[in-house]
Amino acid sequence: MLKQPEAVFSGRAGPAGGQNGGMRILVVEDEERIADAVKRGLEAEGFAVDVAGNGTDGLWLATENDYDAIVLDIMLPGVNGLRICKTLREKRIWTPILMLTAKDGELDETEALDTGADDFLSKPFSYPVLLARIRALLRRSGGERPTVLVAGDLEVDPATRTCRQAGAEVKLTVRELSVLEYLLRRAGEVVPKGDILHHVWDFAYDGSDNIVEVHVSALRRKLGAAAVETVRGGGYRVPVGRPPA
Ligand code: CA
Repeated sequence: MLKQPEAVFSGRAGPAGGQNGGMRILVVEDEERIADAVKRGLEAEGFAVDVAGNGTDGLWLATENDYDAIVLDIMLPGVNGLRICKTLREKRIWTPILMLTAKDGELDETEALDTGADDFLSKPFSYPVLLARIRALLRRSGGERPTVLVAGDLEVDPATRTCRQAGAEVKLTVRELSVLEYLLRRAGEVVPKGDILHHVWDFAYDGSDNIVEVHVSALRRKLGAAAVETVRGGGYRVPVGRPPA
């Protein structure tokens, strides 16, 4: 289990929120109001979100964990955002970074990109724009990130949070959708349970990984037993060329 440093004010999302998307995001922001709003907004979109309230914790978390993207404020107590970005790149950690810059901070924007950030957004920003920028970053990173994920007769659209099987929409809970989305991103691969747990639940979740089995069982009930294969001693796999059920 991951350790949780003191100044991190991440909490487990309530059952209504759901932390999904199969994508885990770190938000490093000392203004609690903004951090909370960003966290809630991202969780509503199905991401698992950890928040660090200062630069020291932010740098530590970004180094220790495998995030899919980082939202990084520049002005932070401890280590500032530019320094965090520079340090991560020096350590050859290439997690996509969206830097939050001050209004009219043209120098900040230039410096953000020069230190290795992938994009920036100046404060105050609108949340729909923030979400769209993050989705764009996730698509650009790690080679091909198709907007719609497809394997066999299954399709998941991360932007609209919908799942289709053989063209017909299947209603999934946000978390089921997240588990499936993560498996589809790695279609054909054996995905260890721990990886699913790590990417779909934030670090405040301290239960057992049986929760993953529960969600995979639910997916099989809705999509058919063949939709998600169990690989003994390994994990789960969504077959790439699955024949129609
Ligand atoms: Ca700040």
